[in-house]
Amino acid sequence: MRILIADSDYIYLKLLKNYLEKYLVNVKCELVSSFKELKEKKLSDYELFITNISLPDVEESEHLEYILKHSDNVIVITKFEDSFLKSSLREQVIDYIMKEDIHSIEYLVKLIKRLGKNKDLNVLVVEDSYVIREHEKKILKKIRLNVFEAANGKEALDVLEKENINLLITDLVMPGMDGEQLIVRVREDYSMNSLPIIVISGNEDTNKFLKTLKLGANDYLKKPFLKEELMIRVNNLLDVYDNMRKIENQLKKDPLTEAYNRFYLEHILENAFNVYETKSIAMLDIDFFKKINDTYGHQIGDEILKHFVNTIKNSIRKSDVLVRYGGEEFLIFMPNTSKKEAAIVLYKIKKALEPYKDIRYTFSAGIADEGESLAEMIKIADERLYQSKEEGRDKITF
Ligand code: GH3
Ligand code: MG
Ligand code: MG
Ligand code: MG
Repeated sequence: MRILIADSDYIYLKLLKNYLEKYLVNVKCELVSSFKELKEKKLSDYELFITNISLPDVEESEHLEYILKHSDNVIVITKFEDSFLKSSLREQVIDYIMKEDIHSIEYLVKLIKRLGKNKDLNVLVVEDSYVIREHEKKILKKIRLNVFEAANGKEALDVLEKENINLLITDLVMPGMDGEQLIVRVREDYSMNSLPIIVISGNEDTNKFLKTLKLGANDYLKKPFLKEELMIRVNNLLDVYDNMRKIENQLKKDPLTEAYNRFYLEHILENAFNVYETKSIAMLDIDFFKKINDTYGHQIGDEILKHFVNTIKNSIRKSDVLVRYGGEEFLIFMPNTSKKEAAIVLYKIKKALEPYKDIRYTFSAGIADEGESLAEMIKIADERLYQSKEEGRDKITF
């Protein structure tokens, strides 16, 4: 991402540039210190503009209006200037930071990271007033979220069914299904960690808001609100939500290959086991992996493990679950699949397995679709894997 920064204070410019390029990936900052230099730049080359509210060669904020004609993606640097905070320019920019405050640069880094992630997230605005809905939509679009809308609770449920919504913002008083009813319905299907909810209402009674928190809303906002109030609450909530996802993933997945780990196998698949009448388990083990490590080094060994996992992932269905069972041993759980059908999948993997940078490698496998428990099924598949090894490797037994 290319960022253009405009400020007359060169030390501050360098500081900002160093900070942003150090803490943000794929960011390149260019610096200008006057409106004259700014006008020499081709504005369409930049995705984001960070500019001081004043520059030495402009009166008022002529340069800011100039940038805003080309782009919505503007963040302002200001000393606490009342005139800016009261002006309509505040509404048009994404946000502002205080120049005097060193922590504001950390806030800026966090904000830019958030804007990058928001592009992939969907928010649903539920509000019966068209004017207020448009106002909220405008703010949410400014922080790069994809916005969906509904005029009442019923419409909102329809959108939730069809779209992958990451955040719900709802009014309380609406015709048909109101906000409270909506929260109750949504919480039957989505936990507070999987779909955050913000309530926005003109209600004067704080008790009304407290009730929605008890019903499962994550946060609330009273109308009228400042643009930044909504923006910061939304961004903070999405940060929390991201961290939850990250922790959940770390609990479930092996960090090297991003296959599921044994914790996931034992805690989640154990329950899934009884859900399916027909299912298969395949155990796969890379042949002579110790020799690969000894010949090419442990790092190349790690790369081969990732290469193996990617090959498997491209050959299995979405409903199949791939687990790193041990060092170079993997398990695939296949619901609604007999061992003959599973064998076809394994032969497909065998055929798809290309050498990694000229290093040819193979695997052996055992498949089972019989057994009263997950543990028993794994044991049988494992015995067949060892049979494959015994019989010379690069083999699939079922
Ligand atoms: P076989 O054909 O009988 O399976 O022989 P093998 O050499 O593959 O099996 P063995 O169990 O003797 O060795 C497994 C090797 O896998 C030993 C271990 O160092 C290596 N290994 C386990 N985990 C990792 C890892 O995360 N990275 C790398 N590079 N190697 C690993
Ligand atoms: Mg209303
Ligand atoms: Mg092995
Ligand atoms: Mg092994």
